[in-house]
Amino acid sequence: MFAGPEQDDKLKEACGVFGVYAPGQPVAHLSYLGLFALQHRGQESAGMAVSDGEALTVVKDQGLVASVFDDRTLAGLSGHLAIGHCRYSTTGSSTWRNAQPAYRGMEAHQFALGHNGNLTNTEALADEAGMLPGTVTSDTDLVAELIAAELVKRPEGTGDERDLERALAAVLPRLEGAFSFVVMDESRVIGVRDPNGFRPLCLGKLDNGWVLASESPALDIVGAKFDRELDPGEMVVIDATGPRSLRPFPDERIDPRLCVFEFVYFARPDSRLYDRSVHQARIHMGEQLAEQAPVEADMVMGVPDSGVPAAEGFARRSGIPFGQGLVKNRYIGRTFIAPSQELRDRAVHMKLNPLRENLIGKRVVVIDDTIVRGTTQKQVTRMLREAGAAEVHLRITAPPVKWSCFYGIDTGDRSELLAASSSVEEIREYLNVDTLSYLDLDRLVDATGAKGSGFCDACFSGDYPVAVPVTLRKGVLEASAPIETH
Ligand code: SF4
Repeated sequence: MFAGPEQDDKLKEACGVFGVYAPGQPVAHLSYLGLFALQHRGQESAGMAVSDGEALTVVKDQGLVASVFDDRTLAGLSGHLAIGHCRYSTTGSSTWRNAQPAYRGMEAHQFALGHNGNLTNTEALADEAGMLPGTVTSDTDLVAELIAAELVKRPEGTGDERDLERALAAVLPRLEGAFSFVVMDESRVIGVRDPNGFRPLCLGKLDNGWVLASESPALDIVGAKFDRELDPGEMVVIDATGPRSLRPFPDERIDPRLCVFEFVYFARPDSRLYDRSVHQARIHMGEQLAEQAPVEADMVMGVPDSGVPAAEGFARRSGIPFGQGLVKNRYIGRTFIAPSQELRDRAVHMKLNPLRENLIGKRVVVIDDTIVRGTTQKQVTRMLREAGAAEVHLRITAPPVKWSCFYGIDTGDRSELLAASSSVEEIREYLNVDTLSYLDLDRLVDATGAKGSGFCDACFSGDYPVAVPVTLRKGVLEASAPIETH
């Protein structure tokens, strides 16, 4: 399978994390199921660490969850606590070395760490710690080094079972940016959410244990009951006594800013964020679009998958019938780089194919979630027109993406973002659609149902909640040092 514009033209998620503490349960199998439910958050590598109370075993590799783990691998991973990770790298190459969980084993201590997000002060922390360039290859690697350095200050035989959480309490306040972590040693699983809560992390209850996961469907799949989302700045330690909540960050840093794109596109529709249904939020986005940018048309259709519930909402509010205009191939897996323009042009067809009988002669409203570079929408429009659509009216469930994300989402460089340098009218012309509208930010936030809860909207507004170093903004970091992010 090849990678064409269609694959390149989406914002990419940057990891899913999972953790479980459940004596008597097959925790490796539960982690497998949990990671499977989080596969949409990262498809480049997968891994897990399991402990039986004595030792930690880590298995990780490049590839999808189902290709990294088989029955034999899982059967060999016995224990009662585990963490898991699936990864999408936002910069540099995807290598086994950067697959997670990261592991450190010293004489007296061992631990494993999985990370969703992207630190903004990796360089400064590495400098402070006196690390030579190239010593760490990722922000996660750096955090693992900092925790290890704290742990070795505590020699074996001190009898202190809380070394890992104390090391975390010392390291976490020094970190800036986006991080939802799962961490474990031989006897406890720990979940941490950064003070802005950029990335989600929730807690669930099993009959005889507890589960941490990036998104609530990973709790459903292992039979855990949703308990709650971790608060921004909260650390939850799960051990034989159950979960304990700690607050390692100073109060003045707590400023909830969940990534609003989790609602728009990243999260599964069956997830709950800020205690709201993502699916319902997407329906409301469509309703808001119908109010903000009405149009006369014969059919409303969504670009699968996340455009479909919004199309339902648009249809309901406008009274224009909902219909299906594109069929999605569900079996898109690994990709390779398409060697020719012609093959690249076919890439969209691999994933989406028009339903001609539903389109011929119709004025269609097409709902999609984002325009990044515009290559996908341009080809989708051509496909719809070739299939017989009389008019194409494009409605986007988010404002124009004008700024790069530095908090763990791959938006690419600002120069690659169509809306950074083009007006809406220029974009409309480029895409060859009859009309084009983006949902206003206020309406988007209203549609989530969680107005007032706190969102990051920096890729629309340029208002970055956590300062981004100039080197990172200019892309100097990426150009000069291939530090990977997660
Ligand atoms: S900049 Fe955009 S993609 Fe990044 S965290 Fe903020 S809202 Fe999400």
